[in-house]
Amino acid sequence: MTRKDAARVLVLVPHDNQAVDPICARLITAAQAFRLPVDLLIAGSDINSLARESARFGGIERILVAEHETLVTASPEILAALLTPLMQQQYEVFLAPANSHGRELVPRLAALLDVSPLTDVTRIIAPDLFERPVHAGAALVEIRMESSPELMSLRAANFPPVPLQEAGETPAQIIPLEPTSQIPRAAFVTGQEFFGDQPPLETAPVVLGIGGGAASKDLFPHMERLAEQLGAVIGGTRTAVEMGLVPNNLQIGQTGKSIAPRLYITLGISGAAQHLAGIRDAQTIVAINKDPDAPIFKVANYGLVGDLRDVLPQFMEVFKKQPNNPN
Ligand code: FAD
Repeated sequence: MTRKDAARVLVLVPHDNQAVDPICARLITAAQAFRLPVDLLIAGSDINSLARESARFGGIERILVAEHETLVTASPEILAALLTPLMQQQYEVFLAPANSHGRELVPRLAALLDVSPLTDVTRIIAPDLFERPVHAGAALVEIRMESSPELMSLRAANFPPVPLQEAGETPAQIIPLEPTSQIPRAAFVTGQEFFGDQPPLETAPVVLGIGGGAASKDLFPHMERLAEQLGAVIGGTRTAVEMGLVPNNLQIGQTGKSIAPRLYITLGISGAAQHLAGIRDAQTIVAINKDPDAPIFKVANYGLVGDLRDVLPQFMEVFKKQPNNPN
């Protein structure tokens, strides 16, 4: 791989127009593995305060600010066009989170630059050697990249966050970018975020997973109380999404989000390969399912066989009696 003279790494800052997503600190750690100067790119409308917020992260040199009304939803089409000359001239590597935005942007940019992108990277072994899951997470492969620039989406939860800047450290330089003249072919109309006040699933330390087996209405108060008492973030399977038990943006798995919590409690989840693809980095898995042969028990550290309608109220009672439970 031939590197550009002044090669750098560019990291896309994930944000929701209100605040910078803390997973940005994890993407920066990943960027440092390339041993090149690291810059951030923040794109959107009215984002100057977010650019200043991003400058708190340690280990970065510059923040490129692409501010324009067409970027209000950080349109991947416009952003890819804006990034193409930057990547050709200055950057060796572009990193984005493996969320829906990164999934839309990285392949577009790759097509414009005529290179192969790498998606869902879980580990950077060397600047040209990466790990990613295949076959719905059933196996991991190591891939050597031989083209330049390297474009990839990362499963941010797999990387530790970079510390915030130390006092006295030189603050990152903020550089405004020229807006693109490209007219977008698609326009953002409206959006609705569910459970918007929940911390992000990808980095939550405790997750409560809802499956199709938890559909009974009388279970809901127990599940909500359990999530509250554990400080857990709620997610679910595709079946739970299809049944309307959890919103689409909280689906965990191959076509949803990847999580890496310390504790993952599954309620009425069978353990299909596509769901397991998103939980392979969970440290301790507790499964409750009425079917003793459910595949989830093969990956669970603790399993409870029983009907949730009987087991969950009992589980809550036992939990309430724990000496260090504040509730
Ligand atoms: P089910 O398979 O219906 O299982 C329900 C479980 O609950 C059963 O094991 C049952 O024993 C138990 N149960 C039922 N009632 C009770 C009760 N009262 N008490 C206790 N236990 C009970 N799935 C995902 O989750 N994420 C993905 O990203 C994803 N992507 C996919 C992509 C593709 C291309 C395809 C083909 C499928 C994908 N799926 C995904 C779907 C996946 O294959 C499974 O269908 C899904 O994960 C099953 O969800 P579930 O375990 O909630 O439901």
